[in-house]
Amino acid sequence: MQSAKIWLFTMNILITGGGGFIGSNLAGFHLNRGDRVVVVDDLSTGSDANLAPFSTNPGFRFAKADLLDWPHLAKEAAVADRIYHLAAVVGMFRVLREPVRVTQVNVGATERLLDAAAKSGRKPQVVIASSSSVYGRCHAGELREEIELVFAPRRGGLTGYALSKLTNEIQAMAYQRIHGLNVTIPRLFNAVGPHQTGTYGFVLPRFVKQALSGVPLTVFGDGMQTRSFCDVRDTCAALDLLASSPAAAGQPVNVGNTREIRILDLAKLVIGRSGSASTLEFVPFDEAYGEKFDHITQRRPVTEKLRELTGFVPQWTLESTIDDLIARNRDSGVAGGRLL
Ligand code: UDP
Repeated sequence: MQSAKIWLFTMNILITGGGGFIGSNLAGFHLNRGDRVVVVDDLSTGSDANLAPFSTNPGFRFAKADLLDWPHLAKEAAVADRIYHLAAVVGMFRVLREPVRVTQVNVGATERLLDAAAKSGRKPQVVIASSSSVYGRCHAGELREEIELVFAPRRGGLTGYALSKLTNEIQAMAYQRIHGLNVTIPRLFNAVGPHQTGTYGFVLPRFVKQALSGVPLTVFGDGMQTRSFCDVRDTCAALDLLASSPAAAGQPVNVGNTREIRILDLAKLVIGRSGSASTLEFVPFDEAYGEKFDHITQRRPVTEKLRELTGFVPQWTLESTIDDLIARNRDSGVAGGRLL
């Protein structure tokens, strides 16, 4: 089903947060398919370098702007066939450091975006990026879209981010119900791959950079916590399939890879595949994140809904992603912590 999709027309794509890790991969995905892509990004976590490969492509335009006050939003939304809304305050270090910005940007910019899309006569497909963080501290072995969500309000921690993403889901569903907007709501689980930076805490770019530099890999806690990593190229393909599938509209859908790995084993895997002489350094969570921290011990998506709606099956194994990152970055010095 996945490979049988044939594209007969080019689309106008608007990507908010398109200078970031997932957004810039999506931009490349659509430009490769011949679509026209407009990226808006304030480059607070994204980077010029992620967009540099597209600068000579006539189908590409970039606006450096904050979505909260970008004056051209209505105009660009009015001509878009599809909008991916990825602009958000992300990354554990940044989320913990800037809790006010988290709700301001993640909720405020989404409201503005949905309003602009709803006023567009073109009725664009709108993909609102949600996150596995909405599962909060649910310790169900398998995270299904239907499970009840439980949150504990705390001064610090991840609750603000998780609730901002859950609010985005509610905003999207409200705009669908009231304004007939065509919304897709992927819950993204730990995307990894080219252009991801470790600066804001993401684990794989940190481990790859540390292994290639020969310094110890910083395993937070005892490393027994698990995550399920999905190559960003698979994430992009899944997002495109979901947005193209009318049956997927208006409901949260897990997007990720079901393979689960302990962070300790991830560190060993990166060391093994890079042939690095690096050792492991165990860092207590409170020290790593600078405050008392409720870490998430386990996270694995159930992806049946995604498969039933789109036929999507991931193409990248974790080993192939790690090998690809090592090969791309071995000689580059991993510029600025960002993976090529
Ligand atoms: N982590 C780690 N060492 C690092 C960075 C992160 O052990 O240098 C851990 C982190 O505590 C978490 C896991 O790796 O348990 C995934 O972290 P990331 O920030 O990539 O994703 P998230 O926690 O949002 O799923």
